[in-house]
Amino acid sequence: MRHSTFRRSLIAALVASTALVALPALASKEKPVIGFSIDDLRVERWTRDRDYFLEAAKGLGAEVHVQSADANEQRQISQIENLIARKVDVIVIVPFNSKVLTNTIRDAKKAGIKVVSYDRLILNADVDAYISFDNERVGAMQAEGVVKVVPKGNYYLLGGAPTDNNAKLLRAGQMKVLKPYVDRGDIKILGDQWVKEWSPEEALKITENVLTRNANKVDAIIASNDGTAGGTVQALAAQKLAGKVAVSGQDAELAAVRRVIAGTQTLTVYKPIREIAAGAAKLAVQLVKGEKPAFNAQLDNGAKKVDSVLLAPTTITKANADLLVTDKFFTKEQLGLK
Ligand code: BGC
Repeated sequence: MRHSTFRRSLIAALVASTALVALPALASKEKPVIGFSIDDLRVERWTRDRDYFLEAAKGLGAEVHVQSADANEQRQISQIENLIARKVDVIVIVPFNSKVLTNTIRDAKKAGIKVVSYDRLILNADVDAYISFDNERVGAMQAEGVVKVVPKGNYYLLGGAPTDNNAKLLRAGQMKVLKPYVDRGDIKILGDQWVKEWSPEEALKITENVLTRNANKVDAIIASNDGTAGGTVQALAAQKLAGKVAVSGQDAELAAVRRVIAGTQTLTVYKPIREIAAGAAKLAVQLVKGEKPAFNAQLDNGAKKVDSVLLAPTTITKANADLLVTDKFFTKEQLGLK
């Protein structure tokens, strides 16, 4: 009796130890194991980020474990902890909340795991690298594109998620462009609001309220991305104002580019996702191999100056929408172009 219990626990221990050994054995430097923790795969752009990232990582001989937190702060923390427990070599993170990962990243670093902040800067944490587009520039391009068609009038500022550091950078870029117009009295800012979780429904509600409060006397809405622009345009359409009020966006989402071509959205900002995804995969592998990546910026995240790669965005209006076809982001058929 005692003997067989002993044997059973010996077998159990052996099974457990093989399981433990099996995972880290994957993590050799020739075949780095990458954890990719994405805020929200329910948003169109992030599925593209994932697909291009997987493709690039495969080309570099790396293995990737992808996790989506679906805009849930706690879920993202558990998922990252899980990747740490699996002893991946590097974790690439699109944070839902830029401000809450300090301890989780400390744990990753203690376990010898490299950390890359993807698209959104993680604040107050010891991240090894950051890769994104120049978000202040994106914000400036949003305002420039709208000011070009509405140099005078009533503006409303629809910000991104308050938990996303990009939302603040975008706003800073927008304000740099708008300030001289406001100072001259050409542009009046009716108000501003952050849109929780970048939610299109929330953007729709805010826009409805702005229209009601101002008796529809609104000339431009600076929406910080295409998802929220979609909500805004829907609210405008209900008041027969779609196409009459200028609206910005970013991401070149399919629905948004179609709106730009149809004239109900003034512009979107195209950020070639293949570049950031491939760049991040390369960066992650280089960090694991101890190679020195090429950085072109440093951003202060409150804990350190983070070595960064900032890529260049492009404004898309009706006039140059075909660039998205040339760049193989969409087909002519998808955009209804000849
Ligand atoms: C990204 C945008 C995206 C938004 C919502 C931002 O951090 O830079 O491209 O539209 O998050 O997911």
